[in-house]
Amino acid sequence: MNKEILRFDHVTVGYGTREVVKDFSCTIQEGEFVSLIGPNGSGKSTLIHTMTGMLPLKSGKVFLCGKDNSQIPVKERAQIAAVVPQNFQGNFAFKAKEIVAMGRHPFLKRMASESEEDYKIIDWALAQTGTLHLRERKITQLSGGERQRIIISAALAQKPKLLILDEPTNHLDIQYTLEIMQRMRKLNQEEGITIFAVLHDINMAARFSDRIIVLSDGSKVEDGSVSQIIREDVLKPVYQIDLVVRENFLTDAPEIVPLRSNRTLQRKRNGKKVHIICGGGSGSAMIEAFHNSGYEVSCGVLSMGDSDYELCRSLGVTVIEEKPYCEIGDVAYLQNLHALKGADLVVVADVDIGRSNLRNIEILQEIAGKQIYIRREKALDYTDGKADAIVRQLLACGAASSLGQAQLSALLGNAAQAGALQ
Ligand code: ADP
Ligand code: MG
Repeated sequence: MNKEILRFDHVTVGYGTREVVKDFSCTIQEGEFVSLIGPNGSGKSTLIHTMTGMLPLKSGKVFLCGKDNSQIPVKERAQIAAVVPQNFQGNFAFKAKEIVAMGRHPFLKRMASESEEDYKIIDWALAQTGTLHLRERKITQLSGGERQRIIISAALAQKPKLLILDEPTNHLDIQYTLEIMQRMRKLNQEEGITIFAVLHDINMAARFSDRIIVLSDGSKVEDGSVSQIIREDVLKPVYQIDLVVRENFLTDAPEIVPLRSNRTLQRKRNGKKVHIICGGGSGSAMIEAFHNSGYEVSCGVLSMGDSDYELCRSLGVTVIEEKPYCEIGDVAYLQNLHALKGADLVVVADVDIGRSNLRNIEILQEIAGKQIYIRREKALDYTDGKADAIVRQLLACGAASSLGQAQLSALLGNAAQAGALQ
């Protein structure tokens, strides 16, 4: 049975007259591990501040276990939810155990000191972040990463049902980041603690969460399972970067590979379509040059995973694909024919031809009247001369022209870009 633990209901919040988070709603069920991601400044921390009552809502409500959060007494609230803020300023010379003991305060009677049971919980909380050995150390003498783990321990000492973390691995190196994430997942799975974490690392969110919420410019743009969110079409517009998503078979989770920022790369389109026949990296420089010159580029048929294929995907270039190590099948062949017929010009890169891609050359005989440019310099023919024969015949009858440097420069309208292809 699903039981709601946290609900934001049409929350609008900000500073002064400025609304930073607008009309945000979401529900988190007991036992879930939910990540909140989004670019810097999108309002993630602002949303977390509403939990502690630090920031009054402009409109909407936050509910904790079904009760209006603003009406729950502070002590009672602390027994349900613990919040680890993004920037904890801990400059007092407290010992680690004293900081963690503060997490027990909601449970102490007035003026009472910690009991045996409290000390057990403090040690448990330290152990959860791998910091038991730092128990007696002053936190001013700890590294940023160690301090961060102590702060998480203090939150755990509240024995919360819900742990809210704002970029908990901000100060941690990769080893501790991974360790903390694994420990959080374990607490979630074994102790049943619900986790709501702001994470800047999308791949960590993908690997450890049940669900991901995406915030962009103060609004919720997506809320779904990892496979629904870790997608190029979802993340590219939010982060304004080119990226590819691939399955990481070692972690069994999808991951993103960020490629380049789009904020600086504004292409002017020229309205022309070029279809490029390539493969094995023979087309990479050309694909990028045509793309940057404003052409709408398509490529095919390429084996999935081929380096030209990966580049197309990163640039958002249409690519007609075939399974690796397979000859071009009829479906891909027909898709390729369709793309070729729709293009203003066709370019054949200096690609080796073998049995698997011979149909990429044979197909050129079916597009009479199209402008075809063929670049053949170093490429080899592994088809007993069949590919070379087709190319020779196309050139001889004038159906295709040979693509030299001058011709390429003219097509690109930019000699410098063509020069980079040599
Ligand atoms: P995120 O955590 O997603 O990086 P924040 O919630 O920290 O984003 O910030 C969202 C926006 O609110 C930013 O434009 C930021 O400058 C602004 N902001 C954050 N804190 C304050 C504050 N105390 N006073 C005024 N504006 C703030
Ligand atoms: Mg933040």
